[in-house]
Amino acid sequence: MIGLSPWRRRNATGLCYNAGMRFDVLTLFPGMFAGPLNESILKRAIQAGIINVVLHDIRAYATDRHRTTDDAPYGGGAGMVMKPEPLAACIRAVLSMAPETGEPSQPPVILMTPDGEPFTQRIAAELATCARLVLVCGRYEGVDERVREALIDREISIGDYVLTGGELAAMVVIDAVARLVPGVIDAESIADESFSDGLLEYPQYTRPAVWEGRAVPPVLVSGHHGEVAQWRRRERLRRTLERRPDLLARAALTEADRAYLRTLGWNDPTVGEGAEHSAATKS
Ligand code: SAM
Repeated sequence: MIGLSPWRRRNATGLCYNAGMRFDVLTLFPGMFAGPLNESILKRAIQAGIINVVLHDIRAYATDRHRTTDDAPYGGGAGMVMKPEPLAACIRAVLSMAPETGEPSQPPVILMTPDGEPFTQRIAAELATCARLVLVCGRYEGVDERVREALIDREISIGDYVLTGGELAAMVVIDAVARLVPGVIDAESIADESFSDGLLEYPQYTRPAVWEGRAVPPVLVSGHHGEVAQWRRRERLRRTLERRPDLLARAALTEADRAYLRTLGWNDPTVGEGAEHSAATKS
């Protein structure tokens, strides 16, 4: 077990309490985590004890002389498969490490896998409410199916492509979840950003006001807070319609949002034939 920061802190009465969120990561390559966790926001959050990442080397749970963690697949074929025994022993050992800090002794055990549930901001927000997560990183052709059946609670994919291992995927999950843990970044920074309410973010600008002949939109330097807010909202709607129209079906839209989107050519499902059809199917 390799801790990257102190997990328990003491309050004024000297009692242990949960200072933040704990990520237990099970991996064959713990060294891969040093870079991302030792820079910028995650580094500061770890130093402040708001999050804690504990790395567990699966190989340490292999019992043979060569510390073997993989074997050939039954039925033949390319590659190797992660053996069940060391991985299961590692998961069970981590689950038995129940800190006396009040969080559930059985945190969700999540496998990183390309055939898992697609990772989204909604899932990140859901996971950020947990006191502790156990993230399992696969390697080779993946994990023996029986370990998945017996010990994995949830399976997450970070996208429709195949990585060499689950470490980068686990880092993506840690990064996206950690920034939603209170105290890691400004609550205000999270409020309007992409996916927070089903829309993409508005364009961002900083000084200088003119760069290589390109001026920032005049409304942003007008000092009119109401107009700035309206411009930003409309830019979010425009950008979402242009780039991810699929998101609009689930976004929280006001009537004014809908009216603006219609001026941009959006086919509003609540008016016209689409609405009549959905009303008919509901009744
Ligand atoms: N044979 C597997 C398949 O076709 O689905 C791919 C195994 S991949 C080479 C090795 C490991 O990388 C997986 O067990 C998983 O832990 C991780 N991995 C690869 N792509 C991933 C993705 N898109 N999301 C999450 N984890 C991924």
